[in-house]
Amino acid sequence: MSNKEDQNYHDKIDEAANSEKDMTPRPVYEREYDLQPKKLQDKVAIITGGDSGIGRAVAIHFAREGADVVIVYYKEKQDADETQKLVEEKGRKALVIQADVSVEENCRNIVQQTIDTFGKLDILVNNAAIQFPKEDLQEITEQQWDETFRTNIYSYFFMSKAALPHLKAGAAIVNNASVNAYRGNKELVDYSSTKGAIVAFTRSLSTQLAEKNIRVNGVAPGPIWTPLIPSTFPGQELEDFGSDTPMKRAGQPAEVASCFVFLASDDASYITGQFLHPNGGTVLNT
Ligand code: NAD
Repeated sequence: MSNKEDQNYHDKIDEAANSEKDMTPRPVYEREYDLQPKKLQDKVAIITGGDSGIGRAVAIHFAREGADVVIVYYKEKQDADETQKLVEEKGRKALVIQADVSVEENCRNIVQQTIDTFGKLDILVNNAAIQFPKEDLQEITEQQWDETFRTNIYSYFFMSKAALPHLKAGAAIVNNASVNAYRGNKELVDYSSTKGAIVAFTRSLSTQLAEKNIRVNGVAPGPIWTPLIPSTFPGQELEDFGSDTPMKRAGQPAEVASCFVFLASDDASYITGQFLHPNGGTVLNT
């Protein structure tokens, strides 16, 4: 290109160039927020299985971000009491409720107690789950299948149904699934099936609630060092738990809790029906 041609070319580019100042409406290029914000200031959150593992970490991080939390536990009162203490040390309130979330009436009671105590509900974290590894499908009884589905996915439905009448625009539901929903697990056929159902439940409910600005998202953790692991793989060598991930290690509950904080907060205001994958680098075909 000669110098003259070069100049013409650049003039044309300039003419064609779009400028933000000519746009109606103008694009929003900066969000309003404090430099040290509490992401969940004065929110009220229910966390099923909030006593231990990932649920405990979520409760503590929510409290650090300014939320009061309802910790629903099943059997481990000591864990629940400890989590309550840890939340209160962050300067927030914790209501501890013992309940079996596989029963619908119990879920309605949890929500009612939350409203009676805090007067509102902003965030629901469905997190409770059980698993019973079995190497052969023939070993899975109807009772185990029922119990696993009731605890892992029926409870998400029961809790969401009970919570929804209280959730206002800006509220969020965050569901805990698993990498096994996407990858399968030969020892956890029933558990993995419930986790797949949780993914579809999350996506479906999100589309139903999007126009109300109630967001429904999920987290699909990889191997995380929680009580679920030693309790359901007793006697197994667990030193190499998580070593089959690209990062060659298990994750910690605190490394998963940050996903819940993000999805529950306004930082994720344009995100619904999606899953985050704290799994040590396993790339999934989602
Ligand atoms: P965890 O054992 O600490 O938590 C399980 C929780 O479920 C407990 O707090 C328990 O109180 C609760 N629970 C079980 N049955 C219940 C019932 N009937 N009613 C009420 N609560 C009940 O283990 P975790 O690993 O923190 O599990 C939390 C979630 O994380 C589960 O949904 C699990 O599937 C998911 N997850 C865990 C891993 C992992 O490697 N640890 C990986 C992927 C997904």
